Amino acid sequence: MEWFGESYDDSLDKLFSVDTNELRRQLLGIYGVGEETADAILLYAGNKPVFVIDAYTRRIMGRTGFKPPKDNYADWQKLFMDNLPADVSLFNEYHALLVRLGKETCRPRPLCEQCCLNPSAKHVGQGFPCRNLHRGK
Ligand code: SF4
Repeated sequence: MEWFGESYDDSLDKLFSVDTNELRRQLLGIYGVGEETADAILLYAGNKPVFVIDAYTRRIMGRTGFKPPKDNYADWQKLFMDNLPADVSLFNEYHALLVRLGKETCRPRPLCEQCCLNPSAKHVGQGFPCRNLHRGK
């Protein structure tokens, strides 16, 4: 907050008028702000088209067979941003749904029987790579 006041006069308009990459760089320079937090600020407060990566996202996508070449934040984010349109509403909802799935169903011990991504569920088509194989992992 001190940085926000000193740098931007406590003005969100001023803050979010800054180029997104530059603002991300500045946020990452604040003690305690990591990539996930910086991107959450950019997306949820600033309405910038930046996809947020968190542990839920990595777990669910990893189990369903979608993984970037390297298991680091930048590559995970690139996987989403290269394959989705840069749409703030879409990124917002997509991340929120992954969080919900990770909290309620795709837990450390997944509840695959009740998962909307399980192809054995009636409302999902065949062929999705995530099957009950992941149980207990
Ligand atoms: S089917 Fe199981 S492992 Fe796959 S996403 Fe759903 S809860 Fe997770």
